Amino acid sequence: MKRFDAIKRIVESLSNELIICNIGAPSRELYNIKDRAENFYMLGSMGLASSIAFGLALSRPRKKVWCIDGDGSLLMNLGSLSTIANNQPKNLTLIVIDNGSYGSTGNQKTYTSKKTKLETIAKGAGFESITVINNEEDIIPILKGLEMGCHFIKINTLPGNAQVENIPLKPEEIKNRFIDSISR
Ligand SMILES: [Mg+2]
Repeated sequence: MKRFDAIKRIVESLSNELIICNIGAPSRELYNIKDRAENFYMLGSMGLASSIAFGLALSRPRKKVWCIDGDGSLLMNLGSLSTIANNQPKNLTLIVIDNGSYGSTGNQKTYTSKKTKLETIAKGAGFESITVINNEEDIIPILKGLEMGCHFIKINTLPGNAQVENIPLKPEEIKNRFIDSISR
């Protein structure tokens, strides 16, 4: 499975969750699989998807928030794991698609392709609910079966980006329609 396949299954698992999506290729792939106002395609702040999702989860405790992050991005902002795990929002699921590479910048290898295990770091940071998914067919039952809570889910995939269109929306449009969708 590649990242595109994983995101497809994530989308098929959705009910009304808000999604904060990592910058670059993951956001483009999500847009092309299923665009919705509840998707926030994060721009310009690599590494901060989990932090944005955390703030959103705290400020909208009655909405479920899913963050689609990547290994390279999470490695840039490991402190976010401690912040999330110690505050334990009951409505946040951090989904890390680990393809062992910086996909959006040309598939350079990250350290998760060597020794680093993000699920072990998440455990040390204090996450109590940690799941590692290796098979595409496991994604939907696991995501659909999630109870309210603070979850860390890692999906292992192969490197590689899907050839998809750029997101035609302006940053202001992405922001404004997302704000509208969380205000409802
Ligand atoms: Mg990656």
